[in-house]
Amino acid sequence: MELYPAGRIGQAAAAAQEAGIGALLLTPGPDLRYVTGYEAMQLERLTCLVIPAAGSGLDPFLVVPRLELAAAQASPAGGLDLELVPWEETGDPYRLIAGRLAGVTGTGSVGVSDRMWALTLLSFRHRLPGTGMVLASVALRGMRMRKSAAEVAALREAGAAIDRVHARVPGWLRPGRTEREVGADIAEAIVAEGHARVDFTIVASGPNAASPHHELSGRVLEAGDAVVVDIGGTMPSGYCSDCTRTYAVGRPPAEFAAYYQVLKQAQEAACLAVKPGIAAEQVDSAAREPITRAGFGDYFFHRTGHGIGLETHEDPYIVAGNTEPLEPGMAFSVEPGIYAGPHGARIEDIVVCTDDGFERVNNVTRELIVVDI
Ligand code: ZN
Ligand code: ZN
Ligand code: ZN
Repeated sequence: MELYPAGRIGQAAAAAQEAGIGALLLTPGPDLRYVTGYEAMQLERLTCLVIPAAGSGLDPFLVVPRLELAAAQASPAGGLDLELVPWEETGDPYRLIAGRLAGVTGTGSVGVSDRMWALTLLSFRHRLPGTGMVLASVALRGMRMRKSAAEVAALREAGAAIDRVHARVPGWLRPGRTEREVGADIAEAIVAEGHARVDFTIVASGPNAASPHHELSGRVLEAGDAVVVDIGGTMPSGYCSDCTRTYAVGRPPAEFAAYYQVLKQAQEAACLAVKPGIAAEQVDSAAREPITRAGFGDYFFHRTGHGIGLETHEDPYIVAGNTEPLEPGMAFSVEPGIYAGPHGARIEDIVVCTDDGFERVNNVTRELIVVDI
């Protein structure tokens, strides 16, 4: 099965019709890549895939700057049955699209990529006066959330690559080195282990570990530090990795080692809760319950997880209030944390909901990894 099957444009057109949207306007980003495989660069010159709703009588077309026509033809989009419409430097691609859509947007609305630039969106507003605008995700989120077998395989490959990086981390955690030095080693390894690019490197040592999104600083590692390492990148396939492990540089404080065990049980309980039909928020409460029972509830102050695929953060979100039932193919992080200060810990795996349970794509040990010094 193909990672980017040719039928996706047709499915998107059907989804647009179902959602009552006249056409989808997809500019470079994850939506465009999802439906065509084309990884176009987001620039001030407009590239836009127009997908009229099924039954509108208008075929989809890809508007590209003249100087990017060759690149678009060489991309996976060039292999689809799709008209490429180049525009010259002095042309107005917004007027061009508005002209073709005249009469098609009978429903009065278009769906725009969630990550379309304001620069682009306001130009469309100007050229499509009176046309309602909604997020394209209204039509596409259902498709993107339910990963195909090929997408799950791509997430597995990403998971294995980031696991290999984690396996090398203990060798870089030495007293006297800075978080930034460790981060540079990790970034190099993220690419060396198969990613196309580094998305983030969080090395949060000692008191910095109490801040979940601390990135890198000049702080020097000391004996006894706990270190939260949360790292991820994008594979050549387009699919992302994201995995957190917590390390200790030598023997950590006793109270830290104790709550780490609570965290590990909470992460395990949340993974075990994953199965079709369960509400996303139930996975969150499965993680929260043991942490709260142990008295650390106030120190777990973020949602349990986020969906992942072509974006590191996407639907479904594993958070209280999200009653959406999980379905096979949904992929998301399970990443409870305890940030009790002057240290903190987090364990994160990417988990896929299967027909009867769950599969983790990260399999490197979840034990507290104590580095001998
Ligand atoms: Zn995060
Ligand atoms: Zn993460
Ligand atoms: Zn995450």
